[in-house]
Amino acid sequence: MEKNKAIIFSGPSGSGKTTLVRFLLKTYPERITFSVSATTRPPRGEEKNGVDYYFISEDEFKSKIETNDFLEWEEVYKGRFYGTLKTEAKRIWDSGKIILFDIDVEGGLNLKKQLKLNALSVFVMPPSIKILEERLRSRNTDSEESVSRRIEKAEKELKTASLFDKFIINENLEKALAEADKLFSEFLLI
Ligand code: 5GP
Repeated sequence: MEKNKAIIFSGPSGSGKTTLVRFLLKTYPERITFSVSATTRPPRGEEKNGVDYYFISEDEFKSKIETNDFLEWEEVYKGRFYGTLKTEAKRIWDSGKIILFDIDVEGGLNLKKQLKLNALSVFVMPPSIKILEERLRSRNTDSEESVSRRIEKAEKELKTASLFDKFIINENLEKALAEADKLFSEFLLI
């Protein structure tokens, strides 16, 4: 039985952290569960409510802030709120599993501060800003304005990589997956 443990994957949007997170979830379904965040942004592509995010209105989000329902929340982009509900974390820990967070950099640092040694924080780094920009464009899910906003944010985020417990440079996907696997396996032993 795991005691309120968590592994936090953070990094710029387009760094590939979601791919690493999905891989770990598929490899260790009995040990880890994905923390579904609440957000006020609309669903993208095939995203499903309750699976990828809890898609809620800004009014609902703000009322949950008032009632202190979030473990952590943030206005990641202007007018776009994201947060982890305490009920979501409790649900996972009560089931005896480790929580896997896919969360933005500030949120990741915030969670690490709260969970301390019970959490392993991992920063996923793109090989360069240029490659990050190419990835975001080829994803074809963001407007030009949204890509620019994400790049601007990424430049700031890269400066905080050293505040994380570990980092993975996601240049070669196979290598990055192997590193994620190794970090997770080591964390299991703690
Ligand atoms: P996207 O809109 O691309 O799904 O997510 C934008 C950013 O918000 C990503 O970096 C994602 O990891 C982050 N994010 C997702 N859920 C949360 C959360 O609960 N809290 C915070 N702070 N960031 C989150």
